[in-house]
Amino acid sequence: MGGLYRLVVHHDRSGRPILDTAEWDFLEDEIAPSSVNPSLWRQARLNREHGLYELVPGPYQVRGYDLANLSLVRGEGGWIVIDPLTSTETARAAMDLVREHLGDRPVSAVIYTHSHIDHVAGLAGVLEPEEIAAGRVPIVAPQGFLEEAVSENVLAGPAMTRRASYMYGNFLPRGVEGQVDCGLGRSVPSGSISLVAPTHEITATGEELTLDGVRIVFQLTPDSEAPAEMMFHFPDLRTLCAAENCTSVMHNLYTLRGAQVRDALAWSKYINESLRLFGDSTDVVFASHNWPRIGSDDVREYLRTQRDTYRYLHDQTLRLANKGFVGAEIAEQLDLPATLAGEFGNRGYYGTVSHNVKAVYQRYFGWFDGNPANLHPLPPEPAAAKYVEYMGGTGAVLARARQDFEAGEYRWVAQVVNHVVFADPGNTEARELQAAALEQLGFQAESGPWRNFYLSGALELRRPTPEQRAGGGGGGAGRSPLMQAMTVEMVFDLLGARLDGPLADGTSLALGWSFPDAGEQWTLRVEHGALNCWPVLDDDVDATVTLTREALIAVLVDASPIPAAVEDGTVAIEGDSDALDRLLALLDGPNRSFTIIEP
Ligand SMILES: [Zn+2]
Repeated sequence: MGGLYRLVVHHDRSGRPILDTAEWDFLEDEIAPSSVNPSLWRQARLNREHGLYELVPGPYQVRGYDLANLSLVRGEGGWIVIDPLTSTETARAAMDLVREHLGDRPVSAVIYTHSHIDHVAGLAGVLEPEEIAAGRVPIVAPQGFLEEAVSENVLAGPAMTRRASYMYGNFLPRGVEGQVDCGLGRSVPSGSISLVAPTHEITATGEELTLDGVRIVFQLTPDSEAPAEMMFHFPDLRTLCAAENCTSVMHNLYTLRGAQVRDALAWSKYINESLRLFGDSTDVVFASHNWPRIGSDDVREYLRTQRDTYRYLHDQTLRLANKGFVGAEIAEQLDLPATLAGEFGNRGYYGTVSHNVKAVYQRYFGWFDGNPANLHPLPPEPAAAKYVEYMGGTGAVLARARQDFEAGEYRWVAQVVNHVVFADPGNTEARELQAAALEQLGFQAESGPWRNFYLSGALELRRPTPEQRAGGGGGGAGRSPLMQAMTVEMVFDLLGARLDGPLADGTSLALGWSFPDAGEQWTLRVEHGALNCWPVLDDDVDATVTLTREALIAVLVDASPIPAAVEDGTVAIEGDSDALDRLLALLDGPNRSFTIIEP
């Protein structure tokens, strides 16, 4: 390969590049450097290829413009766009490429394969605002799409975002000693995002739609790779879209940014169902990441190995758990069988056998391994102080750890020096040694997210100030545009998760809410340090607030000043005018740059 054209996508507002493929030019070399696992290097070189691809006999994909792929199927009057990428800018750049090579055709339909934002948030780059507002272009999504898209990213959003910056290596320099790839794709673009609700939800497997003259048969796969997800088949094109259930990686049963554990058994059964439903009538299978498989034998073999990868992880974890082994022990014993591990598409570029085994264990048994010694251990800081004291003090621990580092025992060094860092975070020698151990683990990792986690930890150990931790961007204090799509109940639930429970204990507060725009009325009560809500207006509330849902988000989530909102008429309060202020005084904001590798 080589000679890839340089692609630069600029940010709409700031003009700074959000994607510049020249940053990954170091991958030109076919031979992996000693600081990158050769298997990950190979995957990174494949993910680095970008452009417009035609999948025989007709669907197209724009790959390498984003973490995800934008796929297109030619309809009678325009394009059916599948998954409009992560940001407006990358999606627009992808559509420009399509127009440049295939002519100017309108977008006649959009399909969201699932509820993760790298497949939906770039819609404004695919449809014009007037088209979105008019609602004439059908947007098709799996059942439960909107609730899942919002809930996964909002309630636990700040913590997940901070952890995701480690997982995707957001603050790492690109290069042979930095971010190389994410396994699933090159990197996550920044840029403008939005969330537009679907116009049609698929509610059953077997449902068939004709969009712009193209027949599509849907297969619902909830609780697979995402809580709301679907695969679908184009019978006249003999093509299957596998969404994100079959990509060219072993995917995550648990994602390290933090999310609910996925159902490996259901996932595997869906792929099996897909084989039965569509296997004999499919010559091409494509996905929302990585590259397609072409040719009916290859398609079926690919689906079988993907199915069996998740099935094997599930069944073998339970077999060993039922002999009494705990997650950490099973993860050491299991590997994929050679017939699966020998296929590049099943390798742990994104998920790993190690953390997926622990995910299966967690799904069935939770965090507790059953050993009472682990039921109520000391938390990291006091435990670290005790460990270091018992081991003869910082100097003694570091001397031994240095010997183990020289012997290549990086996993152990990271485990033991972590105690020194947690006992004495200002100890530069300990931080340096810990960073060196994490760095070696990162250099060895086959998984993109493992590499990014290790190297992000090393980076923060070496540059420990909070400003550097936050990386000068990302996270941010502003609200996510995804919040626009929140229902009233979601806003109240978010509020509940921000309530300072100990502070609120002893306070009894009842607020009524009236939303003339949505025709809804709600009651919100705080008692016993907990917040509850229900969609009826009680008659014994302290005050009733009349406003729009938009104003609710502004006041409760953005903390817009209430007097100004009352002044301009956006908010009207009837009854005890201080009640709303008392509620707001009980809220506690998140910390978006909390520490991870130190106390
Ligand atoms: Zn994705």
